[in-house]
Amino acid sequence: MSEEQKNYWILAYYGFHPIADPHAEVARHKAFLEPRDVTCRIYISEEGINGQMSALHTHAQEYIDWMKSRDEFKEIAFKIHAHHEQAFPRKTIKYRKQLVAIDAPVNLSQRGEHVSPTRWKELLQTEKNKILLDVRNEYEWKVGRFEGAELPPCETFREFVAYADQLKKTVDAEKTPVMMYCTGGIRCELYSSVLKERGFNTVYQLDGGVIGYGLQEGNAHWLGKLFVFDDRLTVPIDPHAAAPAIGTCHHCNASSESYYNCANMDCNTLFLCCPECLKANKGCCCQACLEAPRVRPHHAENAHKPFRRWQKGP
Ligand SMILES: [Zn+2]
Ligand SMILES: [Zn+2]
Repeated sequence: MSEEQKNYWILAYYGFHPIADPHAEVARHKAFLEPRDVTCRIYISEEGINGQMSALHTHAQEYIDWMKSRDEFKEIAFKIHAHHEQAFPRKTIKYRKQLVAIDAPVNLSQRGEHVSPTRWKELLQTEKNKILLDVRNEYEWKVGRFEGAELPPCETFREFVAYADQLKKTVDAEKTPVMMYCTGGIRCELYSSVLKERGFNTVYQLDGGVIGYGLQEGNAHWLGKLFVFDDRLTVPIDPHAAAPAIGTCHHCNASSESYYNCANMDCNTLFLCCPECLKANKGCCCQACLEAPRVRPHHAENAHKPFRRWQKGP
């Protein structure tokens, strides 16, 4: 794919700034985006905005300019990847009570210290007794992560709170620095405060997340690919260079960085799979799924497109 063919921009962004009337803001966003060549998943709440978008690059630029012209959004940092087509199923612009589903009160004034990608890289090299925490999902971690990163054993924010309580019992919270990262940075805004509230003195959060890091520092200390919540599913964090692969095929353990949704619609689980096993198993994750009553026909040519129903967002 030549650079000229990449006419679309994929934007990832968020901002915590109070929005007085989020429903009116949803309407304003809809009116602005309706005539433009855009697909997106944008959530707006009283506390701010969390967005992902793909757009014809001129329309993406218009959107960025519009956002920069407004007080509530002018501080937002947009992370931009070039792409050759739209990456989301439709235009979704919605009110949401919570930007990140955590179902627990969080004291946002007690967040970790934002560190730039450059500083993060230095800290990875110089901080000796650190805990390096990946606060994403296991399927994201499996295909790419920072060297030495730990995946807290939890699937929900509530479980992370329990994990933090446990961590406090096993390490000296005052003296153990924690470095925390996620895809675009928004999860760390909330997760870091949980550690701060439990007495962890030094909590660093990667500003702009892995997306921002890759755009600025490339693959330094990074392994594999970045899972993203759009049609691309996995991307190199440095658009110009590949990092060593770490993902392995769910069936045969061969190196693989391609995710698929199981073709059994009643399973739909995400799994990494090599091309041979994908074909041999008709896009299914296991023998039981292969024999299940509702198996979608497997098409090798568009096998990469995520099956839409699984999407649950970051
Ligand atoms: Zn395989
Ligand atoms: Zn399955």
